[in-house]
Amino acid sequence: MPEEIMPRLYRIIIPLPNSPLKDLNSYVIKSDDRNLIIDTGFNRSVCFEAMDKGLRDLDIDLTKTDFMLTHMHSDHTGLVSRFFTDTSKVYISRIDSMVFNENIDWQAMLDYALSSGFQLEELVKAMESHPGFKYSPKKIPEFTLLDDGNIIHIGDYKLKCLLTPGHTEGHMCLYEEEKQILFSGDHVLFDITPHIESWSYEVNSLKNYMESLNRTRNLPVKLALPGHRNFFTDLKGRIDELKEHHETRANEVLEVLGNNTMSAYDIAAGMTWDIDCENWEQFPTAQKWFAVGEAIAHLRYLESEGRIKRNTGHKIVTFSAP
Ligand SMILES: [Zn+2]
Repeated sequence: MPEEIMPRLYRIIIPLPNSPLKDLNSYVIKSDDRNLIIDTGFNRSVCFEAMDKGLRDLDIDLTKTDFMLTHMHSDHTGLVSRFFTDTSKVYISRIDSMVFNENIDWQAMLDYALSSGFQLEELVKAMESHPGFKYSPKKIPEFTLLDDGNIIHIGDYKLKCLLTPGHTEGHMCLYEEEKQILFSGDHVLFDITPHIESWSYEVNSLKNYMESLNRTRNLPVKLALPGHRNFFTDLKGRIDELKEHHETRANEVLEVLGNNTMSAYDIAAGMTWDIDCENWEQFPTAQKWFAVGEAIAHLRYLESEGRIKRNTGHKIVTFSAP
């Protein structure tokens, strides 16, 4: 039976096999007229079975159920396609919805990765094993788009949408002001550090993330309900840790770079990673994609602060001291 966190608010734990995240927290709010499910899981059977069982245990009528997706990643959105009904609203931020609307320009992404220093063969392997390609929703619902400040009413709960870009460009948290609870999605996690990556120089995702952390830092919050792992109470303390983490990471990037001229790929290879392998050659290919993306986010951030410079005009983009 899913645990009841507060009156009529429940959590269903959805396993994410082979993911370092371990599982996803799907939150269910019940009310007399409509129910709301916040985040879903990958579009794969092991996730489906866990969600299906949880919803049966809670006696959820799907024809009276709406969905809210905190962001576009497939571990949060993938499964929605198997549960939404003709009468369901499926909420997602206007910004993150675009990933599903537009035909993503894979060629541009490929070119970008190559210019970051990836070898083509390795890149193709990394992309093929990316969960975003494998476990995304197959049937895209017609979304109800959310903007910052919108409010979703479900029973006793009044959920205010807070646009918190960083983890994705359109990430949304939900804040219940009166009850002082924050559905933090992957904006703030307690046991692990949310992944901040960048796959375009147009977006300064780490700077956005730092600003989003400042935005949520002073909210009165008694309980934060994250997208993965454990609940937590000290939101401010956790945010300070995350800000410090990224400053430390940025300094590590500066150290790896030193007086060299390097690609993002080579910088990622020189950074320390919390992963069980001896060296970069043994690093799982799928994880290299995330590592390089994370290195780029920090490089872009340092560049915007004038602490390094980006050299373009060649096949491979490099970075060096200003
Ligand atoms: Zn995510």
